[in-house]
Amino acid sequence: MHRIVFLGPPGAGKGTQAARLSKELGVHHLSTGDLLRAAVAAGTPPGREAREHMNAGRLVPDDLVLAILNERLRHADAREGFLLEGFPRNLAQARMIEKNVHVDTVLSFELPERLLIERLSGRRTCPVCQTAYNIVTQSPKVPGRCDRDGAELVQRPDDRPEAISTRLTVYADKTAPLLSYYRTAGLLRTVDATGTPEEVAARVRSALR
Ligand code: AMP
Repeated sequence: MHRIVFLGPPGAGKGTQAARLSKELGVHHLSTGDLLRAAVAAGTPPGREAREHMNAGRLVPDDLVLAILNERLRHADAREGFLLEGFPRNLAQARMIEKNVHVDTVLSFELPERLLIERLSGRRTCPVCQTAYNIVTQSPKVPGRCDRDGAELVQRPDDRPEAISTRLTVYADKTAPLLSYYRTAGLLRTVDATGTPEEVAARVRSALR
């Protein structure tokens, strides 16, 4: 059974790789960003509370994220395992999952800041299936439309310049300390996230061997 965490700055390609790998391994892909965006779209009370934090590029309060994640995590863990993407994002969250489940591998995606900004500002997302494109490096077949379902692609509010810079600062301050935490625990493996999704996927596979 695989119990994997994907760690790394926004724009490193975690979501793209998590979607591929979870299919290959047959494990649940749990993305707190996707779960939160779904709550925002559904207009639930937690969604309404999360929205402002997300649009500004700040972290959503831990109790709110946990309320959305916890039940799904237990369910996924009890079955085929999981691939957690975008969680934990700070030390308090890392300690919280330890109470509930056991993680066996943490993959850290590494990409220079210049490329992170390039990827985030060019990203367009399908609001229906969440597939990510990039207007420069990974454009859809029909401009502005999702290859899978034809929906009109949108720019995430937090992929605008002001929010990008907040997200990168939040990553450095709150999330990056998790790297040494998991390295000390002997769980951390790093992945060079430059290049095409296929190239990165090959590195992910070899990091898991
Ligand atoms: P992501 O799709 O992973 O880039 O997440 C988008 C936004 O959702 C983040 O910028 C945060 O506002 C929020 N978010 C996602 N995961 C978490 C988390 N584990 N803790 C706090 N906020 C989160």
